[in-house]
Amino acid sequence: MHDFTDLKHKTSKYLIIDSHIHLGPLANLYMPSNDEQKVIAMMKSFNIKKAVCANHGALSTVAHGTLEIAELLERFSDFLYGYLVFNPNFEKLSLSDIEKNLENKKIVGINIHPSWHLCYPYDRRYEKFWSFIEDAGYPVITHSWNPDVANKIQKFSDPFFFEDILKKHKKLRLVLAHAGGRGEMLYRVISLLEKYENLYVDFAGDIFVPGLIEEYVKRAGSCRILFGSDTPWIDFRFHLENIISSSISQSQKADILGLNAARLFKLEL
Ligand SMILES: [Zn+2]
Repeated sequence: MHDFTDLKHKTSKYLIIDSHIHLGPLANLYMPSNDEQKVIAMMKSFNIKKAVCANHGALSTVAHGTLEIAELLERFSDFLYGYLVFNPNFEKLSLSDIEKNLENKKIVGINIHPSWHLCYPYDRRYEKFWSFIEDAGYPVITHSWNPDVANKIQKFSDPFFFEDILKKHKKLRLVLAHAGGRGEMLYRVISLLEKYENLYVDFAGDIFVPGLIEEYVKRAGSCRILFGSDTPWIDFRFHLENIISSSISQSQKADILGLNAARLFKLEL
């Protein structure tokens, strides 16, 4: 059986932080190997030092989700950092829940998901959140996708909806997870990265585009690209290998694999 010795050897040379994972149960979707203990043990065996998690429960509920992430952060305190989730459908409740729980030092950012919550990021229900989180100084990671796909709820997460928010909230640090996700949008997002210096991306999930990392680094540099896998939705080893075998320099790989995340989330390692 393949024991991945080669990949383990290559990853041992870097500080690796996965800035985009999910843990915990999720209804109506079968995910093999979605056992927290096993997922984390496997990540550690490939030299991933830390991961930042948005638990599935927090995407769908407010109070329960927050309890669940706090429990996970305590259980895996040597490995995990966490995102709280802002849910615009319960605007007041969610915002006050975030205010209370930012005291937890393991919380390093906020996750939003316009498609999951069926709410455009420019909707007035997001307004207070944007101002609050800009002042609080925590990075926000948002789902982003090409609206021109079969799954119609992706229309809520068009990366270009965030332009006005970035113009208005100049101190906000925003991560466009999936960098627009599909097709030509993956390339159009580079122009956003060139234009807004507080904008970051990851290529988490099922994004398999040869040459994409090279194109981003060539045009926007290596300092605002994060290694995020979307584990357990996909095997993180694909992303590790894809970054390590890309045609960019060793130091650019080091930025993407972990240094950028350490800086963005101010991690004490
Ligand atoms: Zn995700």
